[in-house]
Amino acid sequence: MVIKPRTYPEKLLQLEALQRRLPSTHPQMGAITTEFSQYDAGWYGEKSMDYYYRNLDFLEPLFLHNVRLFYRGYYFQIDTLLLTPYFFLILEIKNITGKLIFDHEHHQVLRRSHEVEEVFPDPVVQADQQRSFLSDWLHERFTDFPYLYNIAVIANTNAILTTASQSHPNHQRVIRPTALRENVAAFHKNSKKRYPRSMIRNIAQTIYENSTPEQYCAINKYKISKRDIKEGVLCTECKNTTMMWRHGRWKCPRCEKVSRHAHRMALRDYAKLVSPEIRSKECRVYLHLPTTDSAKRLLRKMKLPHNGGTKGRRYDLSSLG
Ligand SMILES: [Zn+2]
Repeated sequence: MVIKPRTYPEKLLQLEALQRRLPSTHPQMGAITTEFSQYDAGWYGEKSMDYYYRNLDFLEPLFLHNVRLFYRGYYFQIDTLLLTPYFFLILEIKNITGKLIFDHEHHQVLRRSHEVEEVFPDPVVQADQQRSFLSDWLHERFTDFPYLYNIAVIANTNAILTTASQSHPNHQRVIRPTALRENVAAFHKNSKKRYPRSMIRNIAQTIYENSTPEQYCAINKYKISKRDIKEGVLCTECKNTTMMWRHGRWKCPRCEKVSRHAHRMALRDYAKLVSPEIRSKECRVYLHLPTTDSAKRLLRKMKLPHNGGTKGRRYDLSSLG
């Protein structure tokens, strides 16, 4: 049962919007694209695990995804946390490809891919840190709880896993997704005590209530001037062309694609990059509409929540997702 679902990350929404709305020659574009693809791979890796979680039904675990808790002045983050009456399990999920050489002695992973060598932190060490934070966090709130395990899952099935330290105990805690069930079954078998389900649900609820999402603002991070944000309704087919409002619909002057709802995406980008609210005047300018009245009609039709009277009404765009 999923207590805290995985939601499409705000970071990816903002970076996607920036990739659409910044000129391709913008000096920050390279860094934005790199951050997007790394984070997107991570998100995809986590999502791909759902298939393997189904094999754990025999224990009816409670799942909490993307947990972020505050402890002694800092936040710590857990990709996925499984709570069962027998044990708790922290999963650190990595979606990296290439030939991975785990060097646990030196807390690092070397990756060789297309003649390029890179170094990553050892995910087992990361999972150990999360385990220690979570254990302390739980001890402050509960007198007793099941034993906490942690493992690192390499979600990318194309990755080649090798190790520079075969006998190192940490290497047993680097697994492929297919080995998850077997590991979970072993934890279950080794457990000495069964805690009541009501207690596990209570712990899950407490973690859920205390988990706060990371505040991310791509505009601030990359010091983007709002003047650099492209205006207009972008054609979904030819990307860079601005569509025109004609007789109640959007039309692309280049590929002639027609849409009634293309402004939704444009306004979503506005919400992510400029402001979560918009006035009809601002909307007219941003969407390149002929009159403020047409902007008003369009916004009213979207049935968005709004603040203020008829004059100076601000439409709330955050519900566009
Ligand atoms: Zn087009």
